[in-house]
Amino acid sequence: MPLNVLIVGAGVCGPAVAMLLQGSNPQHNITIVERSPTLRSTGQQIDLKNQAPHILRKMGLLDEIKALCVNETGLEVVDSAGKQIAYFGAAASGERRIGLTSEHEIMRGDIVRALYDASIKQNSDFKASPGQGITYLFGQTITCLGQSAQGVDVTFSDGREHRYDLVIGADGQYSRTRRLAFGQEVSDAAFKSLGVHAAYFSIPRIDGEGTLARGHLAPGRKMIYTRTSDRPVTGALLFTMDESPRLKASYKESVENQREAFVEVFKDMDWQTDRFISGLKHSDDFYANELGQIKLDRLSAGRVVLLGDAGYCPSPFTGLGTNLCLVGAYVLAGELARQGNDVEGALRCYEEKMRPFIDKCQQFSSKTMGALFPSSRLGIWAMHNLIWAVSKVAGLFPQSQKGDYDNHDERLPKYPELNLP
Ligand SMILES: Cc1cc2nc3c(=O)[nH]c(=O)nc-3n(C[C@H](O)[C@H](O)[C@H](O)COP(=O)(O)OP(=O)(O)OC[C@H]3O[C@@H](n4cnc5c(N)ncnc54)[C@H](O)[C@@H]3O)c2cc1C
Repeated sequence: MPLNVLIVGAGVCGPAVAMLLQGSNPQHNITIVERSPTLRSTGQQIDLKNQAPHILRKMGLLDEIKALCVNETGLEVVDSAGKQIAYFGAAASGERRIGLTSEHEIMRGDIVRALYDASIKQNSDFKASPGQGITYLFGQTITCLGQSAQGVDVTFSDGREHRYDLVIGADGQYSRTRRLAFGQEVSDAAFKSLGVHAAYFSIPRIDGEGTLARGHLAPGRKMIYTRTSDRPVTGALLFTMDESPRLKASYKESVENQREAFVEVFKDMDWQTDRFISGLKHSDDFYANELGQIKLDRLSAGRVVLLGDAGYCPSPFTGLGTNLCLVGAYVLAGELARQGNDVEGALRCYEEKMRPFIDKCQQFSSKTMGALFPSSRLGIWAMHNLIWAVSKVAGLFPQSQKGDYDNHDERLPKYPELNLP
């Protein structure tokens, strides 16, 4: 029997799970509601590693995605004069290295756009009849969820009401679906802060910037990265463990207030200050958040289930958020296809199969964080020495974990029911 499914959020995992569900049963009726008036294809560089490339390969999208990847050749850690302290190479295919650059690095907007376009194309190839296939609704959200034995009754922001067999919350770290289905208290408690505030934005490239990412530690518990690769602009990532109340409060305020709060904290940093402050003030793709992990005892409440950052954000510091959300999309669609009309049974199996992946990706802790952000110049000097030593050791054993890449595919459950190409 086909299902009537609502997906909240057209980020990375929303379009992915829609495609996988439709592939398993073209008669499913799948609606994706996105709060933003257009596809939100901003954001900086994200890693595609572990199981993510394998899932994209199974979906027939890996070659297309690879062609969109950026060419970052490694990371150099620099002092306030821009002098190299340490260098970490990029991980080649099938290799794992200490460093920032993995085999597939892609701009968030490019993968969001590629998955969205692929879902539109697949929908058109399936020639869906009315009441079937994938439909996007932009500029709308959900305001109320009510559950009964007949399904989930959803109220939309334009006042419309509709009943669904299943609602998938793929609406990111600050998920409204989570709040509506699990309650404000549970939803708020699920966010485990790492005590780090982050801002991401693009700035003009400068001469001689090359293809290396650059990382810098500034006094006052600040960390700055530039990621230029082969692109015409540079991605800037600013992190701070500054406990500024203004910063913490700013996420509930306008983007302008967020920009000002970050300017206040970073105005006296000691590397390319004018360049970053100008970017904070004027970039058109500024995005900021408090880094944290989402930890919940269960991923579903009745027939509402959470997917990706909404249910198990591991935090951008792990570089595993996109991997985990694609594993989630694959397992959720796979279990729904396998269990047929037993939606509750499929959600239980989804939860069971996801736990080991979630636990592995969320191993990072706030205690680790504190050590990465020295506050004094002496602390930074000590950290530079440590980073230099680690880079030398890492350079000696670049292929120590070779072989792990293939195991990632083996760890994924197999779902012939998904009818993947
Ligand atoms: C604008 C933006 C920029 C980002 N930049 C970076 C970055 O630079 N580096 C990084 O590591 N990670 C970034 N992320 C997070 C990263 O995309 C995710 O960690 C990861 O890819 C998991 O994706 P997801 O699909 O679960 O969530 P997301 O990619 O966050 O997608 C969630 C989607 O849901 C939509 N949404 C949110 N609330 C509602 C609602 N109430 N109703 C309907 N739709 C809603 C959002 O607009 C978004 O399109 C960014 C996310 C966003 C939204």
